[in-house]
Amino acid sequence: MAAAYDVCIVGGGVVGLWVARHLARAGADCVLLDRSKCGSGASGGILGALMAHAPDNWNTKKQFQFDALADLPSLITELEAESGLSTGYAQCGRIMPVRTERFQKQAIVRSEASRQHWRASKRSYVFELNGPDAVPVSMNPDLAPLGIIQDTLAARVNPSDYVKALQCAVSRDVEIIEDCSLRSVEISSGRIKTTNDELELTAKHVVIAAGYESFRLLEPVLGRVIGGGVKGQAALFECPDLADQPIVYDDGVYVVPHEDGKCAVGSTTEKQWSDPTAPDPERNDFIERSKQLCPPLRNAQMLRRWAGVRPRCNRTDPIVGALDDDRRILVATGGYKITFGIAHRMAARIADEVMNTSTKTELPTTYQPAHHLNASN
Ligand SMILES: Cc1cc2nc3c(=O)[nH]c(=O)nc-3n(C[C@H](O)[C@H](O)[C@H](O)COP(=O)(O)OP(=O)(O)OC[C@H]3O[C@@H](n4cnc5c(N)ncnc54)[C@H](O)[C@@H]3O)c2cc1C
Repeated sequence: MAAAYDVCIVGGGVVGLWVARHLARAGADCVLLDRSKCGSGASGGILGALMAHAPDNWNTKKQFQFDALADLPSLITELEAESGLSTGYAQCGRIMPVRTERFQKQAIVRSEASRQHWRASKRSYVFELNGPDAVPVSMNPDLAPLGIIQDTLAARVNPSDYVKALQCAVSRDVEIIEDCSLRSVEISSGRIKTTNDELELTAKHVVIAAGYESFRLLEPVLGRVIGGGVKGQAALFECPDLADQPIVYDDGVYVVPHEDGKCAVGSTTEKQWSDPTAPDPERNDFIERSKQLCPPLRNAQMLRRWAGVRPRCNRTDPIVGALDDDRRILVATGGYKITFGIAHRMAARIADEVMNTSTKTELPTTYQPAHHLNASN
């Protein structure tokens, strides 16, 4: 007889694992399938920057991300205590060099806006402009002639350690089946077909959280492809001189010091790719720019390179929610470059929808399936 679950979650990345955690805590009987190992997709990377949208021109999307980032410290404390594993999380802040008067003026506006909007119940955060004297030794002062912006909201996490801690905590209440790929779902019966022919499963709800591969899995249900994958590459250095320094960000280049004296740099943005996980040793532009930006990296030893594919919807924002009125098929993907900061909140909304709670985690309109499925797509 087929094993019957309330919910089958497809994908054991940061999103699927958070969905499983929220649902198990709400009392649902869940199974999670991963095609390979949990964390083998984009979530098993090395960068782990948790950075907010700019605080000016405030909207519900910025509020959603702010609430998610502000919630994270207490959720991480709970997760680390439960799993006994470190996630490498720290609210380390971020600095950005200021080179032009235009950026300087914009920073003044954003600084004011941060005082109004970056307020959580327990703490406020700032986006502050400081002069050239504030440039730390970790940054090349020639690239910051007008000073730096310092933001206290940004944080970092070690992506693969975070996923391991989540998997450890989730595995207590959820059956996790690895090396098992979803093939199809028979919507009327809830019967789930996988690459393991001996496995017989049914579920009342199926949550697709399979990263960029979600779009291919959803094609038979939606009749079209509403997103794809954008490859990115990063590199990890041994650089104790940058330990405890904030993230440095400049025009697409991230330098993210981690707790163990290692420092990750990234990343590329590649819409065309053939091998999803192969780093390209010729692709050194982001590494050269990181070294320009942060002099301590110049003599640091490179430990490894890494590549993965980020899920991105055609209509830019993530897609989160049920695709049908009976909530048989739900989807949570498309977090692109900000997934680590919002996965737990995307998942909280999915859990609310599955459990049909009377109040639901707020979701920006542009994250809702209707926005992505609009015929003008
Ligand atoms: C170079 C690089 C740097 C990045 N830096 C950051 C950063 O600093 N901050 C940030 O927030 N984000 C960053 N990202 C983006 C982030 O890594 C991703 O958006 C995020 O990991 C996506 O998580 P996910 O759970 O949606 O998907 P994934 O982590 O890809 O997980 C999907 C899972 O689904 C499984 N799967 C696929 N198909 C099936 C199937 N048919 N059946 C069963 N299982 C299946 C896969 O095996 C995988 O484990 C970066 C990405 C890259 C590539």
